[in-house]
Formats: sequence, structure tokens, C-alpha cells
Amino acid sequence: MHLIDSHCHLDFEQFDLDRWQILKRCQQLGISNIVIPGVTAKRWHRLLELCDHNDMLHPALGLHPMFMLEHHADDLATLEHLLTQHSVVAIGEIGLDFYSKDHDKNAQIELLIKQLQLAQQADLPVILHVRKAHDQMIALLKQYPVKGGVVHAFSGSAQQAQNYIKQDMLFGIGGAYSYQRATRLHNLIKQLPLSSITLETDAPDMPLQGKQGQRNSPESIAVIANIVADLRQQKVNDIARITTENCKRIFNI
Ligand SMILES: [Zn+2]
Repeated sequence: MHLIDSHCHLDFEQFDLDRWQILKRCQQLGISNIVIPGVTAKRWHRLLELCDHNDMLHPALGLHPMFMLEHHADDLATLEHLLTQHSVVAIGEIGLDFYSKDHDKNAQIELLIKQLQLAQQADLPVILHVRKAHDQMIALLKQYPVKGGVVHAFSGSAQQAQNYIKQDMLFGIGGAYSYQRATRLHNLIKQLPLSSITLETDAPDMPLQGKQGQRNSPESIAVIANIVADLRQQKVNDIARITTENCKRIFNI
């Protein structure tokens, strides 16, 4: 069984002490690939270096909407330059976070549009972080169509899912679906086509039910595959095979 974690912040310092041991255990669990999205320019070089040293790891580069205060005017030019120097699988993690009131919506939209344009220019998919802004995001994707991508930690409506599918987007499914009280999500996942699902941990964040307050790890992807299989009443081998195919197709890995 092969599994992919399509969204893991393995570059974060929470993994500095045991990153390589975790990767070894991932291999034993059948987790063959991990996509690491970038969040701020300051961390891009380290992320690229990490991925250079391990074939399992695939970098994406982007400016995350929750880190607006850490972004600088010349970051986009740096991103454009790095795209010509390194092979990255996506522009991400980028998006709109209208849940946190701290960050100016217009500034987020402006930054997102510039990164969608970079994705168009580089012919790359995108990894999207979207909270309380799915309809705005769908409208922007129509205006600035990209080569597909993943809506990370998707929790929108079935109707919004249909609109994302029209833009060739997949849905990142992870820890939020492990909670017993998440009945809306449990309903939603039954309505998504399996051809549109990828599995993700968002580690070190988004711990599974029962592990609240602990560091999450890409090893959880094996548990998430079982949760998705249970919720959809399908075989875990089919979930693993098809989500792995989806992820490889969208990121060309
Ligand atoms: Zn993330």
C-alpha cells in the first residue's frame, strides 16, 4: 500500500530533533511521498534544501495568508526567481483567510492574485488555504484559471465542491474528519468523488481525535486513510491507491 501526505509542514522547527526518524517510520508505513508547502519567504531556502536531501519530499513555494505580517514587498520577485532555479511541485500554500480578523482582506486578495498569475506563468498547480472565503476563491479561480491544485483542509459545501471540481481542484482531507462530532464533514466526504480526494495531515498542526494538544506527524496519514475508508464504506486499499494516483497526477510526481 502506497500513501502520500499531500500537505505536511515537515520543515517546521517542531521536527528538527527527529525529522529523519519520522521519515523512516513513514516508509515502513507505506508513506512514499510528502508534499511540503512553503508559508513565508524566510523559510523557502531551508525547505528547498530539505527536499534536495530526500527523494520522498517535494517542495511547494508560496506566501500564506495567515502570515501577512511576515511578507515583504520583494518576496514575489524572489519566488519568481526561485521557480526558474528549482523544480517545485506547486505554488502554495496561498489563499484567503477571512476567519482571522487581523489581516486585511484586500491585501490578501491582491497577494493571492499575484501568486495565481505566477502559477499560470510557471504552469504549476496551487495549494490553497481557504477559510470563510470559498465563494470568493472560486470566483478568483474562474478569473485566473490555473492548472488545478488542492483545496487544503476542505470543509466547504457540496455545491462549492462542485464548483472547485470544475476548476480541476482536489480536496485535501485530514484530521478534522477524525472527530466524532464532525457530522457535517462526514456527510460531505460521502458526496465527494474519490477521484477528487487527496490525504493530508497538515502536521505539526491538526492532530487527530484523541491526540489534541500533541504534535501531529505525517505518520497519521495511515490512520486518515482508514478513517476515509470507514466513512465512505470502501476498502482502505482502494482509498490508498486512488488518492495516491490523484496526488501524483495533480503534482506530477
Ligand atoms: Zn498548511
